[in-house]
Amino acid sequence: MIATKTVASYIGGRFRESKATTVDQIPNPATGETIASLPYSTRDEINEAVAAAKKAFPAWSDTPVPDRAQVMFRFKALYDKHFEELSALVTQENGKTLDESRGELKRAIEVIDFACGAPTLTMGTNLDQIARGIDEELTRFPVGVVAGITPFNFPNMVPMWMIPVAIVCGNTFVHKPSQLTPLSAIRIAELLKEAGLPDGVFNVVHGAKEAVDTLLEHPDVAAVSFVGSATVAADIYRKAAASGKRVQALGGAKNHILVMDDADLELSAPHVISSAFGNAGQRCLAGSVAVGVGKVGDALVKELAKEARDIKVGPGTDASTTMGPVIRAERKRKLIEYIDGAEAEGAQLVSDGRQVSLSDGFFLGPTIFDRVTPNMKVWKDELFGPVLSVVRASDIDEALSVLNSSTYGNMASIFTSSGKNAREFKRRAQAGMLGVNIGVAAPMAFFPFTGWKNSFFGDLHATGQDSIRFYTRHKVVTTRWL
Ligand code: NAD
Repeated sequence: MIATKTVASYIGGRFRESKATTVDQIPNPATGETIASLPYSTRDEINEAVAAAKKAFPAWSDTPVPDRAQVMFRFKALYDKHFEELSALVTQENGKTLDESRGELKRAIEVIDFACGAPTLTMGTNLDQIARGIDEELTRFPVGVVAGITPFNFPNMVPMWMIPVAIVCGNTFVHKPSQLTPLSAIRIAELLKEAGLPDGVFNVVHGAKEAVDTLLEHPDVAAVSFVGSATVAADIYRKAAASGKRVQALGGAKNHILVMDDADLELSAPHVISSAFGNAGQRCLAGSVAVGVGKVGDALVKELAKEARDIKVGPGTDASTTMGPVIRAERKRKLIEYIDGAEAEGAQLVSDGRQVSLSDGFFLGPTIFDRVTPNMKVWKDELFGPVLSVVRASDIDEALSVLNSSTYGNMASIFTSSGKNAREFKRRAQAGMLGVNIGVAAPMAFFPFTGWKNSFFGDLHATGQDSIRFYTRHKVVTTRWL
């Protein structure tokens, strides 16, 4: 099912038209055509959504954990059943290729699979006889109403990092998806309803900063899960923490990939290219800086340029397309400004993506710069588009020092055939997700998504055991029977 003309909100089990006066038009990034209009939820509607979640909390948190897990099993079956349709919806609203959308869906389903294990995952611990005649037990309880605020680049997977785990742990949820890609969220709501989730446990509201501020200020929101750019993540972390909410805020990235001169270039370069240009570079795990280490620089640049020439830019629905558009015309303009700026700063343009002969849609080709240095803006900023910078380093020490001077610390990778280099890298790289001969080192759902520095604000990360701990609070009971 493809979206209706006006995107609904979902409050207390009802799909509703908003009374909003602010309305956005949602284009298909590949064609520029409007596919839906999006009314921004009013403050009253957001308050209603929180009230609905609060009302649903006592009964849902009291529902036996295996019964909550059953909803997830049915939800997972619906995801499998609607896999192609959900993938097509992601391509329609985000622009990525159908294969990339299918990849996103697979990763989303992994988290639902993980959440199905709630009876085991949420178990507590106990210790018999901690003192004479005294036992102690730790039990997990849900936190309350959780607000989930998500970005445009994974309209299905990123919400799934939050929703299944939060819900299965007994919380209720208000989702505020990106105003750039709001369609998948409503389809998720339909499927959760069909899976038998009680009304009010999951709600969807729309909007941008104002909607988020309303959620952050709301006294009945107990926890906030955020994924988006670093500046907003830092702000959300501060505001949520200041009002006593628990918060996890995942921010932006500038991921470095070290290519050592002992690496097999032909095998490594395609991974660097697909890391940099997959999803048109709009991934928080995109390898946007390749560091050629030792003598490999010239050969690496040559190989990357060759691989980039094979990228076919076009609409994501075309099976021959390997790179879709960026999300909006404004983003494309901003990226072109960055490319112009990098040239002016002295970076050497190896592949120029500014001229793409597709007139409709927000297309950019793959752009590669050589001889980028850490004083350049193109190195410092997260561009979030199909632009790859190549930095030259004389040895692993210099390469690590460049990597570690980034303000971001989401992911870093090394391509090498040397165990010694890999070990040095694993121990010294200042990033939370590392890859050895892997272009996109994305942890699977049973591991946490462990960004560092400006890529993460908080203590407990998304997914894996961290997510169970984030969405539950502990009680420790000490017992003596007299
Ligand atoms: P964004 O920060 O513009 O928006 C993210 C969410 O925050 C949206 O729901 C948006 O409506 C809301 N928002 C925007 N400005 C706000 C403000 N001033 N106050 C409160 N809320 C605000 O991010 P985006 O452009 O949608 O997504 C791309 C960014 O997300 C990139 O920086 C990318 O690296 C990051 N990202 C990070 C991860 C990760 O795991 N670390 C994963 C995916 C995306």
